[in-house]
Amino acid sequence: MTPPSSNSAKPVYLDANATEPLRPSARAALLKGLEMEGNPASVHAPGRQARALLEEARTRLAQAFGREADSVVFTSGGTEADSLAVHALGAVHGRRVILGATEHAALHGAARAEKVPTEILPVDRAGRPDPARLREMLGGGPPALVCVMAANNETGVVSPLAEIAAICREAGAQLHVDAVQAAGRLPWGSRDWNADVLREASLAVSGHKMGGIMGAGALILPHDRPLMPLLPGGGQERGRRGGTPALPALLAMVAALAESRAQDWQEIAGMRDELQARAVAAGALVAGVSSEEGAGEATTERLPNTLSLILPGVSGQTQLMLLDLAGFAVSAGSACSSGKVTSSPVLEAMGYGAQAGQAIRVSLPWNVKPGEVLAFGQAYVEMAQRLRARQPAPSAGVGRDTGA
Ligand code: PLP
Repeated sequence: MTPPSSNSAKPVYLDANATEPLRPSARAALLKGLEMEGNPASVHAPGRQARALLEEARTRLAQAFGREADSVVFTSGGTEADSLAVHALGAVHGRRVILGATEHAALHGAARAEKVPTEILPVDRAGRPDPARLREMLGGGPPALVCVMAANNETGVVSPLAEIAAICREAGAQLHVDAVQAAGRLPWGSRDWNADVLREASLAVSGHKMGGIMGAGALILPHDRPLMPLLPGGGQERGRRGGTPALPALLAMVAALAESRAQDWQEIAGMRDELQARAVAAGALVAGVSSEEGAGEATTERLPNTLSLILPGVSGQTQLMLLDLAGFAVSAGSACSSGKVTSSPVLEAMGYGAQAGQAIRVSLPWNVKPGEVLAFGQAYVEMAQRLRARQPAPSAGVGRDTGA
């Protein structure tokens, strides 16, 4: 494989869905926050100054989703926002929890921790939660909290939220949407991602996935309402989340969202699509492009920056290591916190069987350069050709499960 430049060169970073590089406006907001002396809860002048910045950020975040400022509960990130939703909108109200099969561990873990009755909503071959099945699940039984992500972190696949929200509304179920990967990347106002569709849903967002820094997030409620907190603490966030808010990180998050919304994502989608075409020509399968097995056309809406590539017969771990040596930072389908690469539960839920362990995720960051994507494409093709020359070649095709 041809490295992008010399061995000592900085790796090409193509793992934005793990964390986005810091955006310039977020850096500026962060520095402004770091200059604050006061705690937003203090009544003296420095405290009031910090408070004013925090409240301005709250208003901006709420407005970005068509809501009132008091609907925003700041948290330490997406995991905490998801956990707070499961706790305060699910467990506390005796609701069973219905989780999309490809939801993030933040939600699966929260449901386990709260010991709430949990049911899994299956997804189709493209990874979209099944609205018809949801209707059946909500047809009887106790009240429910339905958790469906706006877009998947591994495949980028966008959920049919318009249908799901309508079904929840009809059945009187509470909808929680994990928007950690979608916020800023998915055009706000599109069919499944707009204020009207989501008017009764809670949303989880995370600063570092938009180009802010780690340690900031929010649960955005449909409207101002009291919540039983996970962390009672000193009653901050109107009693809904105790603990001193991470002001600099929260300011960075709100700035990052605005910058991210203004980004030309078409350009990034164009680079992703070219890369996809090269990888497919080299024998890769693409997870999440179509709900029809074997279909050759991309029919599913995905995040503009995300590409899940399966190289049949080659473990994700091997691909990851070879690409890392070649100077490219991508991720395997799923890496647990210990860094060990495992088979991807997301691709398993989509029906990929053994191939769920043969995927890598390429997620282009906001500042990616066309030359970097081209260099990665070349390295990927060389790797695929070399590895696949050593094994009987399965037939290639977009989204087709060769069973290899
Ligand atoms: N939800 C999704 C879809 C994610 O991709 C992630 C992080 O990867 C999280 C939640 C957790 O967010 P955070 O890292 O801010 O805790």
